[in-house]
Amino acid sequence: MTVTNDADTECVIALDVGGTDIKGAVVGSDYKIISRLRRKTDASHGTKAVLGSMLQALDELRSNAQADGLTVRAAGCSVTGIVNEAEGIAIHSENVGWDNIDLRSIISKEIGLPTGLGHDVRAGGLAESRLGAGRPFTDFIFVAVGTGVSSAIIVNSQVVIGGGYAGEIGHVHAGLGVACKCGGHGCVEAVASAASIARIYSERSGTTVPGAKEVADRMVAGDELAREIWMQAVNALSVALGWATGVLGPQAIVIGGGLVRSGDLLLDPLRVALAEKLPVHPMPLLLPAQFADEAGCLGSALIAWGASLADDMSNAPDGLR
Ligand SMILES: [Zn+2]
Repeated sequence: MTVTNDADTECVIALDVGGTDIKGAVVGSDYKIISRLRRKTDASHGTKAVLGSMLQALDELRSNAQADGLTVRAAGCSVTGIVNEAEGIAIHSENVGWDNIDLRSIISKEIGLPTGLGHDVRAGGLAESRLGAGRPFTDFIFVAVGTGVSSAIIVNSQVVIGGGYAGEIGHVHAGLGVACKCGGHGCVEAVASAASIARIYSERSGTTVPGAKEVADRMVAGDELAREIWMQAVNALSVALGWATGVLGPQAIVIGGGLVRSGDLLLDPLRVALAEKLPVHPMPLLLPAQFADEAGCLGSALIAWGASLADDMSNAPDGLR
């Protein structure tokens, strides 16, 4: 790497901790990703093991940055579940097992850097809002359909937090009686997440498929069961997005997460199903996210730069604060 001025020598390290993968990146002051890492979250060994993996990943990212001659200014970590960003606390997670953990303080102390904590999907929404497909809009909903289903609500260009629960559309009843791992019945996520699509197809067909993409491929090849399960997912999503549109009046809905890799196979029927749920409201634009599954990591980088700035301000002489 050629280093030309101060800004070029500074970076942050960012993590996006989802139910399946930990994604990490070294991100420059221009918000470009300089290097990446990826590993399994592997929550089966418990929360402590996940935290250990996160710290190891941050260490590795810092080493990579330093090898490139960069100074790491701060860290940003976004995690799945219910998160209180302001307090830096991971309140709850079905997938990883957070239970009121003071995650920001723990990480900051361990790595010795200013650290910001975010929610994985709200961080993705922040990245799409500031840098990606949401830039033209002041009011939009970012929906991540991957291991789970969740969303970030952007109103007046600000991400709504709502005590940590805003945008949790995955665990809302969609009119179907399928058991959800949250303990509820009929949740959107129980039929519409990429993981649920694959699981339901595997159970009903007797053929284990590795993921939702395989179900989409089978639908294209004419498999009627695959089509039925795909459309059940599309319909559940459209119920949640119809209500969200009625409540918020968004200009657009930006779809991210692993399922959007199926492109128009998802977006075309979702447009039709959503329009059916909105006889009166203007139909919001339905767009794919710009950063696909890197939105969360870029959002963590934005949060890290914010933590770096806050640290600069707290260290500034009184008159400059
Ligand atoms: Zn649920």
